[in-house]
Amino acid sequence: MQNSQKLIPPLSGKCHCGKIEFELMCHLKDLKRCNCSHCRRKGFVMTTVKLDEFKLISGKKDLMVYKWNTKIAKHYFCKHCGINTHHQRRSKPNEYGVNIGCLEGFKMEWIENVKYTEGVKFSLEDKTKIDASIYEK
Ligand SMILES: [Zn+2]
Repeated sequence: MQNSQKLIPPLSGKCHCGKIEFELMCHLKDLKRCNCSHCRRKGFVMTTVKLDEFKLISGKKDLMVYKWNTKIAKHYFCKHCGINTHHQRRSKPNEYGVNIGCLEGFKMEWIENVKYTEGVKFSLEDKTKIDASIYEK
């Protein structure tokens, strides 16, 4: 059993100040980083959940959304502590990427070798500004 599978759903998560609380009704899966211009600044590893596997417990009024470029992806963050908790993906709008650093029981050593996804290649804005080949290994 992988370490990350030791967390048993529902997985509890919250932002740093605790105003935003949520639960995931699934195991951690498809862990990834993303190299788009927004995610590489945040730097966190995300787990993949279907929209109906994410349950907001509290903090709806404290949740801000940041949209840019095509405005399709929705990046949610706490207006008090600034932590990005989750985002609705542009590439797959039926999914959220959830910041696994927000999850109770999460261990930093689980994510040492997590791959990144080529978000930069899907960004209409980045294509004009960044040579994607510099991110390829
Ligand atoms: Zn907060």
